[in-house]
Amino acid sequence: MVNNQIEDVKSRLDIVEVVSGYIKLHKTGANYRANCPFHAEKTPSFFISPTRQMWHCFGCGKGGSAFDFIMQIEGVEFGDALRTLAQRVGVELKAFKPEMKEFNTERTKLCEIEDLATQFFEKQLGSSKAGKEAKDYLLGRGISEESIKYWRLGYSPDTWQGLLDFLIGRGYKKAEVEKAGLAIKKPDGGHYDRFRGRIIFPVFDINSQVIGFGGRVFSQKDAKEIAKYINTPATVLYDKSKTLYGLDRRADSVS
Ligand code: ZN
Repeated sequence: MVNNQIEDVKSRLDIVEVVSGYIKLHKTGANYRANCPFHAEKTPSFFISPTRQMWHCFGCGKGGSAFDFIMQIEGVEFGDALRTLAQRVGVELKAFKPEMKEFNTERTKLCEIEDLATQFFEKQLGSSKAGKEAKDYLLGRGISEESIKYWRLGYSPDTWQGLLDFLIGRGYKKAEVEKAGLAIKKPDGGHYDRFRGRIIFPVFDINSQVIGFGGRVFSQKDAKEIAKYINTPATVLYDKSKTLYGLDRRADSVS
């Protein structure tokens, strides 16, 4: 089952496309070359063979498949690279057996939480009275329905554990939601939602994975009393120094 899914992802991947998301490639005959991202060099010795769907660096000796490239450049494990690339080519991975530990990494779990939270926030935007006000606010600011969908904007209800309850209902632990940057731990050990009564802007990585959120208040009254804009803190997924808001979408619109 797992092997089938790996093959399925592999068959749909284009290694040139994957690597070119990270470094600039130059075509040379049937192959591509670039300055190696894994060692310092001035003359390109990093090669990609589209026919073999492999890469190799003659400088540092590193090489392999698109999976290996993602593992190296993102510093993640195989299961994470698989997940990233599956998402990229639109293959929905079936739940892995719990005993397949390499697919059950912390990173994967956090990605799942971010995905579910995004869906939760999206659903709230426009569905409750406050959610409708949030949506009207966005539309009033000239943000179109299409943009709202495209950027996956959402609304976090003004409750203390709306999202927490939703995620716990899906089998996640409070501590995991906290690790994903979506819950705050109280001194007494309890947890509450970080984002309450805010318009939610997901932050994406280069592979369209949601890795964090920004939340903005939109009513005048609120803006005076609390922080206008808050962000997910740094997490395993969300490294602020590395992240660009909407980077993947920008890349889409260029190509
Ligand atoms: Zn190299």
